[in-house]
Amino acid sequence: MLVQIRIAVTKQGVDLGSYRRRVFETIRRYRLVEMGDVIYVAVSGGKDSCAALSLLREYVEEYRVDAEVKALHINLGFGYSPKLEEIVKRQAEALGVELHVAYAKDYLDILAASKASGRPICSVCGAVKRYIMNKVPRELGATKVATGHHMYDFLAYYFKNLAGQNHQWNFKILPKVEGRGLLLTKIRPLIFARPEENEAYCKSKGLPVNEVCCEYGLCGAAHAEVVEMLRAARRRDPDFDLKLMRGVVDFNTKFRPAEEEPVKKCKICGEPTSGEVCTVCRLRSLLGAT
Ligand code: SF4
Ligand code: ZN
Repeated sequence: MLVQIRIAVTKQGVDLGSYRRRVFETIRRYRLVEMGDVIYVAVSGGKDSCAALSLLREYVEEYRVDAEVKALHINLGFGYSPKLEEIVKRQAEALGVELHVAYAKDYLDILAASKASGRPICSVCGAVKRYIMNKVPRELGATKVATGHHMYDFLAYYFKNLAGQNHQWNFKILPKVEGRGLLLTKIRPLIFARPEENEAYCKSKGLPVNEVCCEYGLCGAAHAEVVEMLRAARRRDPDFDLKLMRGVVDFNTKFRPAEEEPVKKCKICGEPTSGEVCTVCRLRSLLGAT
């Protein structure tokens, strides 16, 4: 049985009613959930993906949409992975959703591939996560895959690409990116939500969340400059971050180029790729795997 939201405004000043309405409006306006959908939410054990799973589930129940919401967890095979898997199982149980656990080692040994290729662990980890998050739900019958990325994830990515003049990547910052070929449709219900709102929401519902950083990550450092910059701007206008995010999505909706890179099939595994062989197969070949 789900725990009802008991407090409208938390001690941290988070207005949970406005947050929930904003997330539901995002789901409705951008048609993130449609009749007949089977949505797999990629859950890490953290507050953001847990909030995405819970809110999508609430939305489907509240509006009686004929759609299924399920969870997918990727066990990365790191030191803290068993603990994360345990937390995710508790989250799924608390929310009454079906959970599928995929093991990264069945696809690629992340640490060995990083060492063999010289690529940073996070880069290899990101590649294998993207691979699994598309392949596994699709094979399980998913129509869409959802992630718990929040507003500051996208704004940090936006500014990084702007500074690096990688403008084409910024066009992908949208609540929904339609699938093509074997690529599943991606949805981001929390694109207009702040991390502290996700945290307060999970807390209000008594949902268990992991608070330990990945041993190979910088734990929020990637957002530090953007958070600092936006905090300063929000002193004058508390919704400046939200307006900025809305502006980016509006721009991308209106001006995203119609032509996109064709999606090819990897010659080795058959999964989608922009080249001849996908990143995971290239890394696997470095380890002598076929
Ligand atoms: Fe993977 Fe950890 Fe890096 Fe995140 S921080 S991409 S989980 S290695
Ligand atoms: Zn491949």
